[in-house]
Amino acid sequence: MAVSFEFFPPKTDEQRLQLDRTVEKLKVFSPRFVSVTFGAGGSTLSYTPETVARLRDHHQLDAAPHLSCVGGTRDEIRSLLERYQAMGCRRIVALRGDLPSGMGALGELRYAEDLVRLIREEFGNAFHVEVGAYPEVHPQADDAVADLRHFVSKMKAGADSAITQYFYNADAYFRFVEEARAAGVSQPIIPGIMPISNYTQLRRFSEGCGAEIPRWLGKRLQAFGDDAESLRAYAADAVAALCRRLQEGGAPELHFYTLNLAKPTLAVLERLR
Ligand code: FAD
Repeated sequence: MAVSFEFFPPKTDEQRLQLDRTVEKLKVFSPRFVSVTFGAGGSTLSYTPETVARLRDHHQLDAAPHLSCVGGTRDEIRSLLERYQAMGCRRIVALRGDLPSGMGALGELRYAEDLVRLIREEFGNAFHVEVGAYPEVHPQADDAVADLRHFVSKMKAGADSAITQYFYNADAYFRFVEEARAAGVSQPIIPGIMPISNYTQLRRFSEGCGAEIPRWLGKRLQAFGDDAESLRAYAADAVAALCRRLQEGGAPELHFYTLNLAKPTLAVLERLR
């Protein structure tokens, strides 16, 4: 099955070396593309392009930048897109982003849909545009129906495919895809997979982004306490089982949130071989 990997942009030389080591190990799975996150409000303004360039030029990977629109002006976003186009990028992950608390104004583009429209209006088909999707509902959505409606109009505004927020409940994904298809979305919806290496960190992330850790999984992971090795093995089995179910249910490919670590993603991929 095709895979893609997500990285965050390193800011120190030590983190850069770590990312290089991680990429060397994951490259053997021939990812269809890799992507690099972007700090909303411009907090990784120089690091994201720098990392995309490194992945493209040094590692020869199809590296796609994430671009979030909240907090930025149309001109700023346009010039970043021009820069990516000049670098040879043909794929963008287009997001609204989340402004760090305390950062005032929303900017000229309020939703990812506005960014998709800007890309299509001003850059035509220069980029393959990926957007975010939320099988367990975006945490700020008014309700599930409104969230689905907004997702559908984002896809109809010109997105080529979607990558989901991570989840551990395959049925949430299958239902979401079914509802999106019924609403006229025909583009691929790629499941985002979060391998697990640390339960406390996972719980914190999940609270922030609205991903549910099923009770059976949370309780089981918690019971490993300080036994990190056993936790990782158990979690890799559970995440590999999720991936197998997604594969059998027709998921087009898998997108791994690597957090720049090779081991947790490798543990899952090796079980899937
Ligand atoms: P949108 O699609 O704009 O939706 C955001 C919210 O607004 C939803 O609740 C939606 O229902 C609602 N909404 C949408 N349109 C309307 C409308 N017209 N009227 C009223 N409400 C509306 N964040 C980063 O900062 N950097 C990253 O690199 C990054 N990468 C990500 C990668 C993936 C694959 C995913 C799934 C998320 C990523 N995020 C990233 C997180 C993302 O920015 C947040 O989840 C953000 O809160 C929503 O972004 P979005 O593009 O999905 O927003």
